[in-house]
Amino acid sequence: MVTPPHLSRRNFLKVSAAGFAVGGVMSLVDVRPTQARVQSLKTAGVKEVPSVCPYCAVGCGMLIGVKDGQIINIEGNPDSPINRGTLCPKGAASFQLAVNPLRSTKALYRRPGGTTWEAIDLNQAMDMIAERVKKTRDETFSEFATVKDAQGNEVQKRVNHTAAIFSLGGATMDNEWNYVHAKLMRGLGVVAIENQARI
Ligand code: SF4
Repeated sequence: MVTPPHLSRRNFLKVSAAGFAVGGVMSLVDVRPTQARVQSLKTAGVKEVPSVCPYCAVGCGMLIGVKDGQIINIEGNPDSPINRGTLCPKGAASFQLAVNPLRSTKALYRRPGGTTWEAIDLNQAMDMIAERVKKTRDETFSEFATVKDAQGNEVQKRVNHTAAIFSLGGATMDNEWNYVHAKLMRGLGVVAIENQARI
């Protein structure tokens, strides 16, 4: 072992011995009451809300810790028969889905023919998406499609759909969001609905 230049070998051994002695005394101190006290301070006033991990089809149960209207912790639900309180690394990091100072608050937009990305406001991006969805739906919506019946004759069948819009969801969309999103897409007549988590 290399000793620091300002410390002689003899003094280094003395300091080390003192350190070991302090460590030995510390190991005799029972810190469990202090840990329990710290734990109770951390959880005081926290409401635990059961939920389900949004990431994959395993569907692990979660407990969302909420205090003063803010999420302060997410952990596995020990009452869930699926995961019994455990979470995989992805689920364990789901706290950052809701609470993350690095979360992007702008949308990046590259204009037709453009070569660079432009940061635009999220509300502006939402308006642009809504306008384009409506325009595309209005231009491509079909009430009827020509299909063949059992005898091979062409018949008109009511379909009420547009084949020009495709919905691709992300793995961070939770069950409740997916439920509402599927309703919206079906209402628009979108039939191509897929989720990144399944691809
Ligand atoms: S915690 Fe992991 S395994 Fe469980 S549902 Fe979430 S992503 Fe899937």
